Amino acid sequence: MLSYLEDLKENEDQLRDSDCCGNGCTNCILDNKPRPSKRVLLAGKRNVILSYTKFRLLRREALGPNGQLLLLHFAHAAEEGDGDGAVDTVLDIPPGHHVMLRVGSLLRPYSPYWSDFVAKEFRILVKLQPEGPMSRHLQAVQPDDLLEFRGPIGQYVHEPQPAKCIYIIAQGVAIAPTLPLVRQVLDNEEDMSRLWHLVCAHDLLHVYFREEMLEFAQFWNYRSCLYLPHQQCDSSACQEAGHCAQQCPQLRDNLRYKETAKVSRLDATELATHLNPAIPGQRVLIVAGDSSFQKNIAQIATQSLDVDPANIYML
Ligand SMILES: Cc1cc2nc3c(=O)[nH]c(=O)nc-3n(C[C@H](O)[C@H](O)[C@H](O)COP(=O)(O)OP(=O)(O)OC[C@H]3O[C@@H](n4cnc5c(N)ncnc54)[C@H](O)[C@@H]3O)c2cc1C
Repeated sequence: MLSYLEDLKENEDQLRDSDCCGNGCTNCILDNKPRPSKRVLLAGKRNVILSYTKFRLLRREALGPNGQLLLLHFAHAAEEGDGDGAVDTVLDIPPGHHVMLRVGSLLRPYSPYWSDFVAKEFRILVKLQPEGPMSRHLQAVQPDDLLEFRGPIGQYVHEPQPAKCIYIIAQGVAIAPTLPLVRQVLDNEEDMSRLWHLVCAHDLLHVYFREEMLEFAQFWNYRSCLYLPHQQCDSSACQEAGHCAQQCPQLRDNLRYKETAKVSRLDATELATHLNPAIPGQRVLIVAGDSSFQKNIAQIATQSLDVDPANIYML
């Protein structure tokens, strides 16, 4: 069993400039000095992903309207000679943290949307980019293939007390890494924090994890809203307008119980409707999406939601 200091040293010893993927991540692997979570300290076990470690692909599933999304499920692959050492390890990827995938000299970050501490498994949702080198590689991976990951990388830590007002704003496929952030609050009965989960997508077809959002909606402290500026049904009125009207009956029919959707972009005025000034608690904003989305939302939220820039986190 490695102590915390040994864990930290193992991580720092192995970080070099070549470990940076060059994508300009908000939380760069080189600035990452992870403190073991309370969970790891309590378990008294080593986090298996602190240095590049092999994970076996258990399942791959193509999703999305054109199959351009891949759901990948990995499990830690015990190396020969690990013996009983394997039982002294766990997989700790705290909510809001990402991992780095290394294939040869190619490095790309991915944000797990689910992980299992004891079974040492995690899942990512990948949007394949045309001509992207890692996308080409991932398009070809098959169950049983071994890939190398290291992490966890990130800064976000949630303290349940005192209760907060947490706004989580996600763009498209980047809703995936926001799911553990929501679960973390809802799974803790003593956490009185309130959540607003605002999801921006092209249209309803491009909203992922709707089932999970419906499960979350059963909790008193969770609210969500979908922003779908390009939603368009086949009625002649909506075809002519270029998008559905807010009251479009087809859109309403396609929404499930407790789903709220707006046929518009999430702008400053719209964001301000979620301010709820009568609800006490520090405002925290978490934004998941590409860098221009993150920058734009962070800018409008400082005014519309009265969030202190110190409490804004980019995933
Ligand atoms: C912190 C962090 C977490 C990430 N988590 C995920 C994740 O969970 N799932 C996931 O699919 N991707 C995620 N990404 C993006 C991922 O790391 C890769 O960039 C992506 O898989 C494409 O890699 P590539 O080598 O195929 O193409 P690249 O060479 O990286 O990109 C090819 C082209 O696609 C564009 N592009 C890359 N990513 C995006 C994007 N997200 N939106 C729009 N255009 C893009 C690039 O600008 C370029 O023009 C994350 C990125 C960061 C910084």
